[in-house]
Amino acid sequence: MQSLSPVARLPAWANIQVSNHPLSCEERAAWERGEVESGSIAGSMFIQSSTINPQLGYPDDPAARNRWVVSMRGEKNRLDPEIPYAYLWEEEAGENNRLLPTATILLTNRECPYRCLMCDLWKNTLDFTVPLGAINQQIKVALSNLPSADQIKLYNAGSFFDPSAIPLEDYLEIAKTISEFGRVIVESHPSLIGENCLRFNSILSGKLEVAIGLETAHAPTLEKLNKRFSLDDFRRSAEFLKENDIDLRVFILLRPPFMTELEGIEWAKRSLDFAFDCGAKVCSLIPTRSGNGAMDALEKAGLFSQPSIGSLETAMEYGLELKKGRVFADTWDIERFAACVCSSARAARMHNMNRIQRITVKVDCEMCGEIPDAD
Ligand code: SF4
Ligand SMILES: [Zn+2]
Repeated sequence: MQSLSPVARLPAWANIQVSNHPLSCEERAAWERGEVESGSIAGSMFIQSSTINPQLGYPDDPAARNRWVVSMRGEKNRLDPEIPYAYLWEEEAGENNRLLPTATILLTNRECPYRCLMCDLWKNTLDFTVPLGAINQQIKVALSNLPSADQIKLYNAGSFFDPSAIPLEDYLEIAKTISEFGRVIVESHPSLIGENCLRFNSILSGKLEVAIGLETAHAPTLEKLNKRFSLDDFRRSAEFLKENDIDLRVFILLRPPFMTELEGIEWAKRSLDFAFDCGAKVCSLIPTRSGNGAMDALEKAGLFSQPSIGSLETAMEYGLELKKGRVFADTWDIERFAACVCSSARAARMHNMNRIQRITVKVDCEMCGEIPDAD
């Protein structure tokens, strides 16, 4: 067990009332609209490190930003285009909170054309489009090794509707292969949700659900993440899905770079509000990680720190309290966020809340009962 620094003694965050923040309503509204640099509001807990450290050299210009993000990367993993890079069987709370057996397949395919600041999915991608039939073959390989399931997630480390990633010619065979599943979940960048999405939907037997990485509803941070879409773009894509009777799942980052821990919690909550307001049926909270090169550089420059398990609990509790849809906390690799002896109990609690979709009794810990510094 690692020793605790005072700052690492966290989770009373679970009780932080963000309504006590020291901004006036006008300041807060302006900041949320991205009209005020957070550093310009003196004395506020919303003072944060969002001003880019010039030493870091993180560019403002999107094209230069792309180059910077890529320049920080290491090597990719070597992959076989006929084999998914991972697959697993799990149970996930479905509508009506019934546990649904779920086959999750992480497809090997061409790298996503975007260069999001925090993304590490490129590590398991190829530099070329897979041959026709390869994606279907990968799905067959995974399904032949997994128990039966009610729903299937086809996650391709990019956008399923990007024709360079998943060839359009493969849609029909894929749809046949997965015809037994009642629900099919794929992921996509908002800009790629259009005709290809409708085409795929029209040939599916099961219900289509599209997952979008909103990441954050804080517009200035969303821009810095290099996601290349705005909140309006996101809302339009959500409406498009709704009009076509396609369900929406949303990925939300807990404490993306340029935010303090408290801001991270606050904006995870706001992002949940925004996502459900846009019609999301499911929101998945993902604690932001380093490890892709770019995030490590930000970490070194003091512009990113990973969130705590306690903050993830707080955001999850908020989402569950809303009762607007299912809320999941991503507990994969959760040990890396451990900061206290209670971490494993907190992780187990979230795992349980993921399954039952209800808030359970809080973990009582004498070690971490203090509100952390907002750094
Ligand atoms: S769109 Fe998704 S897969 Fe592509 S770079 Fe951004 S986060 Fe990664
Ligand atoms: Zn503790």
